[in-house]
Amino acid sequence: MKKALLRCKTCGAEYGAERAPFRCACGEPLDLAWDGAGIDTNERCQSRRYAAFYPFAADEWRSLGEGGTPLVKLEALGQELGLAQLAVKNESANPTWSFKDRGTAACIAHARALGYTKVGTVSSGNMAASVAAYAAAAGMEAFILVKGNVADEKLAPIAIYGPHLLRVAGPYDALYSESLRLGAERGIYFMNSDVPFRVAGSRTIAYEIAEERGFRVPDWVIVPVSAGGNLRGIINGFEDLRRAGLTDRLPRFICAQTARVAPVAAAFAAGAARISRFPGNDTIAHAIDNPFPPSGNRVLAELRRLGGAAMTADEGEIVRAQADLARCGLFGQPASCVPLAVLRRARAAGIVAEGESAVLVMTGSGLKYTAAFAAHRLKWCDCDLAALPEHLR
Ligand SMILES: *Cc1c(COP(=O)(O)O)cnc(C)c1O
Ligand SMILES: [Zn+2]
Repeated sequence: MKKALLRCKTCGAEYGAERAPFRCACGEPLDLAWDGAGIDTNERCQSRRYAAFYPFAADEWRSLGEGGTPLVKLEALGQELGLAQLAVKNESANPTWSFKDRGTAACIAHARALGYTKVGTVSSGNMAASVAAYAAAAGMEAFILVKGNVADEKLAPIAIYGPHLLRVAGPYDALYSESLRLGAERGIYFMNSDVPFRVAGSRTIAYEIAEERGFRVPDWVIVPVSAGGNLRGIINGFEDLRRAGLTDRLPRFICAQTARVAPVAAAFAAGAARISRFPGNDTIAHAIDNPFPPSGNRVLAELRRLGGAAMTADEGEIVRAQADLARCGLFGQPASCVPLAVLRRARAAGIVAEGESAVLVMTGSGLKYTAAFAAHRLKWCDCDLAALPEHLR
């Protein structure tokens, strides 16, 4: 690994990336500060195509082929919404079917560069599966901590990769900080939701969107937000491209949340400088139900700095968005469809103007949450062979 810095955008403090601090002493998250840039257009996979944007040596990456996901144009839906262009960045095309693989790959490279043989995470869904899979591929021991109330059927798709899987009773926030503390003590690299290299991994979403569009950035990029790491990474990615002279401006960003759990949107609307804990509620968009996100303050500051917005959609709007995307051939889990629901509201409110362009980040696969099928009126027909001709008229 080459010498690189981690910087706190909030207080300006800097740390060496070789020491693995996971948060700033001020309590806010850290970002990779690294000036490298360059695209190897012969490679598809994130860790080879964009390797120059990271301080790692080629043999430090252990890739499963993350990145290189499709940017799918939705012409009819775009027209219906009065947009010049609408596209979906389909992150369900990653190795474990969510964008989390990008950040996991970067964290695994960092952990290997620092000599770790054990990794872990705190998650019950996509991040847990992603870390378990990448640890298996890298031959590392994995410790996956999930909340006490997670159902058995959600554990199997994590357990299949062979990690130490621990279901821990107790408050979720405490689990996050306790994992970082114990990790430092026991030599386990905890690649939680918004640690610096997980966030750095999300930058390649921005690189790919820009490349696919011939380096003309869209007017809007809309991202579902839970911890806030993914949106921070995508913003950093667009800033990298402008710094490298590959693009001439930044898009504007919308933080998309479910109305049931909307700490960033609530603070944004109230003009507050910091987020407050949002009362926990059940939502179909369970992958983004974080009532007190560790990158919430940072996301809020970035949206204000860049002229973005934070908006919500209700449960019915999210279900409709999931159906709308499926009718376009794209099946995302409910959380990953919130950007489309929020776009409809942003158009109605005139925040996104007629004739503009937008990219929706569809963060994970619909097959990750089959319970959502019950929210749709799905139909099929049983018949016998003799009646088939009748049905095929
Ligand atoms: C993790 C996740 C998110 C939220 O990303 P953050 O970086 O926590 O804001 C959104 N959608 C899906 C499907 C996820 O797995
Ligand atoms: Zn700081």
